[in-house]
Amino acid sequence: TQTSPPRGRFAPSPTGPLHLGSLVAALGSYLMAKSHSGQWLIRVEDIDPPREIAGMARRQLDELARFGLESDEPVLYQSGRSMHYDAALARLLADGKAFYCSCTRTQLAAAGGIHRACVAPVDPRHAAIRLRVPDAEIGFDDLLYGRQMQRLDEAVGDVVLKRADGLYAYQLAVVVDDALQGITQVVRGADLLDSTPRQIFLQRQLGYPQPEYAHIPLVLDVGGHKLSKSHWAAALADEDRFEAFRAAWRHLGQDAAVLARGRPMAANLAAAVAHFDHAALAVTVTARARP
Ligand code: GLU
Repeated sequence: TQTSPPRGRFAPSPTGPLHLGSLVAALGSYLMAKSHSGQWLIRVEDIDPPREIAGMARRQLDELARFGLESDEPVLYQSGRSMHYDAALARLLADGKAFYCSCTRTQLAAAGGIHRACVAPVDPRHAAIRLRVPDAEIGFDDLLYGRQMQRLDEAVGDVVLKRADGLYAYQLAVVVDDALQGITQVVRGADLLDSTPRQIFLQRQLGYPQPEYAHIPLVLDVGGHKLSKSHWAAALADEDRFEAFRAAWRHLGQDAAVLARGRPMAANLAAAVAHFDHAALAVTVTARARP
């Protein structure tokens, strides 16, 4: 239960153009924050250069702006934040909550893919850093999916926070930045439901507060598959923007009659904020199966 207005965010990785699924996550997080007079931030999660496409972050931000979705504060780029990730890692290592690990993929596979103890001798210069996970269940109450539980030791194993090649893991960067940006409400696609318990455990190890979480059912293609960034590559850019906006709004379980074609996008967005119905969203989520 939250008393002050929420501070939400949308955190795209610049690995491909936005598609309807990204618009749903962006609009869902925006509406959940703005319908309670909250703030909404955009954070570019550009910490994985091999997967990124040059110019894509700018394209994503321009596309969001065409829907009226603009960050209340300057956009944060994770590529410039290694000092914060290193500080968190140093703290975890000093406290014995994280450790260097040189286990190879082959060694991990032999252990069933779940890391629980290092078998290889470790040279920190070429080692990953992993978070030690507990032999206990981590639970949280999703605002839409309800109670979620996961045994990190059985489902995930010791979580990679920094890879042996030097890249920071999404799990580390997202937890550090959600905390340092004062995010109190995380709304995102249900593909990340399974990542949430490990993020909550990492927050606890770092002494960070826990935001509230709401996961939104994924937009599936006609074959029932998750839309990926390569699918529908040009989807939002080429399609009628009103149609895309209305499809995202409908996916959130909202009343189509609130929006009007031919009205400026800003007016439709304002109407969406004014008429956003959390209960209607909760109903569509309950009606759909967990991914
Ligand atoms: N950057 C992640 C993605 O594009 C989302 C992170 C999040 O919302 O926690 O899938």
